Amino acid sequence: MPSQPNSRNTGWLLCSVLLVLQLSACQPAPKEFSDRVAAFGTLITLRYYGVAEADAAGATRHLEAYFRSIESDWYPWGDGELQRINEALAAGRAIQVSKPLADLIRRAADIEQRSAGLFNPALGALSELWGFNDLLQENWQPPERAAIEALLQQDPGSRHLQWTGFTLRSNNRSIVLDPGGITKGAILATADRILGELGIGNAIVDIGGDLLVRGNAGQRAARIGIRSPGSDSAIGWLAATPGEAIVTSGNYERYFEHDGIRYNHVLDPRTGYPVADSASVTVAHTDPVLADAAATALLVAGPHGFDALCAALGVDQALLITASGDLRLTPALQSRVHWLDDADARRAGDHDVSQ
Ligand code: ADP
Ligand code: MG
Repeated sequence: MPSQPNSRNTGWLLCSVLLVLQLSACQPAPKEFSDRVAAFGTLITLRYYGVAEADAAGATRHLEAYFRSIESDWYPWGDGELQRINEALAAGRAIQVSKPLADLIRRAADIEQRSAGLFNPALGALSELWGFNDLLQENWQPPERAAIEALLQQDPGSRHLQWTGFTLRSNNRSIVLDPGGITKGAILATADRILGELGIGNAIVDIGGDLLVRGNAGQRAARIGIRSPGSDSAIGWLAATPGEAIVTSGNYERYFEHDGIRYNHVLDPRTGYPVADSASVTVAHTDPVLADAAATALLVAGPHGFDALCAALGVDQALLITASGDLRLTPALQSRVHWLDDADARRAGDHDVSQ
């Protein structure tokens, strides 16, 4: 059978995982404006509550200008700053890095260390080997095991990065920086700051399903639906706390298929192969950057490493759905989720969580 790239997903950021459920039973519908911006290869939805239409439009313009300002610079396989940084690292050259990108790379390195390498933002060469830098390619095949092993032998990792102020270099030529597992979180954090500066108190920024909730959705908290992996139906929902990011990483949006097997874009740095045990992870945290990185790292950790990694990262609200549909939840999140009726069978796995 010929290989098929997943044509629904050609961008560098994943598509929707969470639904914003606009459940308004018993309450008057809040005045709401929605805008959509295409950026980072995905759709960004901006929802404003109780904001004058002109102010909402102005906020969207500011946010779009911000998205455009980093769109090519933060993408490893484009023609912007990160591509030039990777070129310099591959050549063993030192290079000056802008503050926003330096902050992003340092933060990702910190989470790499705290996750004992399960989150690894220096593994761009492995993504290239698997072809995730070019999802449109035809006749895709998985790479040879020997090529994967040879790359891992070179030990690509952020601990080999050397900073002198904002100048970066490394002796490890196998490093290709790919902060894709953390960029949406960083973008959400900056979008939150911009909206605050503009005096917008109630809004939701939704980058392909990764959300930042400012304030409330009108008279009440925004209710965020949690999707059943790979489907459009929600298995439950939770009321967002103002200022909270709710982020999901899934294995079903960006993948290749070969001989009936799906190979998804989140890679386990221990093996060099795509994550197989986990279907999706949702994390809620007031720090969007940590939420984004943790969702990716927990997907890699899988159900067995879930509790230990939540503790190591300081994440107390997380949900993992395994490939077979069982759930792992932290107690703090479990107490917040309102399960929807048709999810009863999946809830059978709940008791695994509070060990
Ligand atoms: P999404 O971007 O769909 O929300 P993630 O936040 O999980 O999904 O990020 C996935 C991206 O993270 C991949 O496309 C790749 O760029 C990068 N990545 C893949 N595996 C890892 C890993 N083990 N650690 C850190 N980043 C990873
Ligand atoms: Mg992530």
